[in-house]
Amino acid sequence: MIILLKENASEQQLNDLSRWLEEQGVSLHATKGLHQTILGLIGDTSRIDIGQVMQMEIVEDVKRVQEPFKSANRKFHPLDTVVDVSGAKIGGGGLAVIAGPCSIENREQIHCVAEAVKKSGATFLRGGAFKPRTSPYSFQGMQGAGIELLLEAKKATGLPIVTELMDLSQLEYFDDVDVIQVGARNMQNFELLKQLGRLKKPILLKRGLMSTYQELLMSAEYIMAGGNEDVILCERGIRTFETYTRNTLDISAVPVLKKLTHLPVIIDPSHAIGMTEFIPSLSLAAVAAGADGLMIEVHNDPAHAKCDGQQSLTPAAFDAMMQKVMRLCQAIR
Ligand code: PEP
Ligand code: MN
Repeated sequence: MIILLKENASEQQLNDLSRWLEEQGVSLHATKGLHQTILGLIGDTSRIDIGQVMQMEIVEDVKRVQEPFKSANRKFHPLDTVVDVSGAKIGGGGLAVIAGPCSIENREQIHCVAEAVKKSGATFLRGGAFKPRTSPYSFQGMQGAGIELLLEAKKATGLPIVTELMDLSQLEYFDDVDVIQVGARNMQNFELLKQLGRLKKPILLKRGLMSTYQELLMSAEYIMAGGNEDVILCERGIRTFETYTRNTLDISAVPVLKKLTHLPVIIDPSHAIGMTEFIPSLSLAAVAAGADGLMIEVHNDPAHAKCDGQQSLTPAAFDAMMQKVMRLCQAIR
C-alpha cells in the first residue's frame, strides 16, 4: 500500500501518521519529494482500513500495490536509486562500466587488465575468485588468493572492485570488496540473499538463466527486506531455444525493469552472447535501451584464459568498443 500525502503536510502530522501505521504492524518507507511525500507500507496491510486512512487530514490518496515486491517497487520510490561506491556511481543517468577478466589467474594478468580497462574508461574492475563452473573439473578460481590480487589491483588503479560470492563461508574474504556479485545460479539462494541483506555493501544481483522479471525482483526484495537497499540488477542472457549464441540477451529487461523498479539495471553482454564478435553491438543496444551500466569480460590473452576466453575482449578491442559506447552516450544522454 502507498499513501500520498498532501503538499502542506506538517512534520508533526507525518510523525503522528507514521506512529499510527507502525502500531498497525507495518514498516514504512518514506520518499520525500520536492512537493509531495509518499509513504510505502511494507508488511501485512490487510488490517489497515483504506477508508479510515483516506479520511485523515494530511492524506491525498491511498493505493494498494498489487505486486509482491514492495521495497524494489518504483511505486514506493519514484526516483532512481543511485548506488554510490566512493564516488563511482551506478544509476541516475550515467553509464557505469564494470570490466575485467572472468577469473583472476595471476598477478600479472589482473594488473595488466586493470590498468588497461581503466585507461579505456571503465569505472569498476571485475574479476572472479570463486567461480561457479558447470564442471567440477574446470578451474574453480584462485579463491582467497584471487581476492588478494584483486585488492592489489584496486590499490594500484583506484578502481572499485566487483567479485562474486558463492557461499557465506567465503564472506571473510569480502571485507574490502566494494560490490558483491550474486551469480545467475545463486539468484534464488534465499538464505544467501537474506544474509547479504544484513550487510552495508552494494549487491550486484544477476538474473537467473530461467527467471522471470518478477522472480528477479523478488530476489532483490529478499536483500532489501534485510535493510540493504543498494541492489543492482543485471541481465546476463536467458536460456531460449537458440543454440548459436551462449544465451539470449533479453534487451526488453532494461525498459521493463526500469519501469517496475527504481533499482539500477545493467547488462552483461559477455555471458549473454558468449562470443567476442557481437559484444560491441549488444553493448550499444544496451546503452540505447537505457541501461545504467555494462559488465564486460576483458582478458590480456583470451586464447589462454582459464575461463570464458571465447567471450573475453582483448584490451584493444575493449578500448575500440568503449570509444563507440562513449560516442553513443554523448549523442543520446
Ligand atoms: C560471471 O560474471 O563471471 C558469471 C559467472 O556470471 P553468471 O552468474 O551471469 O553466469
Ligand atoms: Mn565468465
